[in-house]
Amino acid sequence: MKRKTRTMLAVSCLTLGVGAVAFAVGRQQDRLGYQDTPTIPGSKWHIHDGLRPQPKVVESGTFSTQETPGKPPSDAIILFDGKDLSRWKSDDGSPAKWKIENGAMKIGGGSISTKDQIGDCQLHIEWSSPNPPSGSGQGRGNSGVLFFGRYEIQVLDSYKAPTYPDGQASAIYGSYPPLVNASRAPGEWQTYDVLFTVPRFEGGKLTKPGYFTVFHNGVAVHNHAELLGDSNYRALPKYSPHPLRGSLTLQDHGGDHNATVRYRNIWYRDLKSYDEP
Ligand code: MG
Repeated sequence: MKRKTRTMLAVSCLTLGVGAVAFAVGRQQDRLGYQDTPTIPGSKWHIHDGLRPQPKVVESGTFSTQETPGKPPSDAIILFDGKDLSRWKSDDGSPAKWKIENGAMKIGGGSISTKDQIGDCQLHIEWSSPNPPSGSGQGRGNSGVLFFGRYEIQVLDSYKAPTYPDGQASAIYGSYPPLVNASRAPGEWQTYDVLFTVPRFEGGKLTKPGYFTVFHNGVAVHNHAELLGDSNYRALPKYSPHPLRGSLTLQDHGGDHNATVRYRNIWYRDLKSYDEP
């Protein structure tokens, strides 16, 4: 047998072998479910399809306490773990100027944004209002978490401190008050857990609105709320077309009563469609 023929035979055997393994795995997976059931509308999979890809395994994290930040899930992308601001920048592109003290970043020197361009996601962020508190209304620990620098979830001391409802803590600023006020006292660590669906645009026109689902200190405060557009002060929210990914901004609102808002333990997870690897 000539060398070339032998090589071709070996490659063929290898291909057959790989094919056989794939077939065997397929048969094995198939035994997990069914192939003789109806196809799920909008999907290529049968009901209880054993061949449907198994979800990726993620190690869950831990919850935070007032003293200690929790551990993020294993597939989270860490934006701030209390050590440095390397994943953040100022509006002009220069390094973020906020100070880090005791594992938290403190407002000062202008708003900061992530270098990461983030899309549909799960975001976890923790913040704390100035203690002792000072000021009132919108001038009492005002900051904000702005997706793409435009869709603001308000950060404010709203613990026994009223303001207009669509501008209080965890409001989607200028659109929706939170369903309830789950605020903790000034100085205590508070959490936002957010599911964000990016609005879609085609040819400069909105084709699908964005959505926020938000938990404030573990309490649901927005349930798949449809975004009405960019957050505005004393003006209607209005959409402006943008790409599918953008930065996350933490607001430095300025003013003495807002200066000591702190953040810690910030991470996100990219959210994909079903069956996306
Ligand atoms: Mg704000």
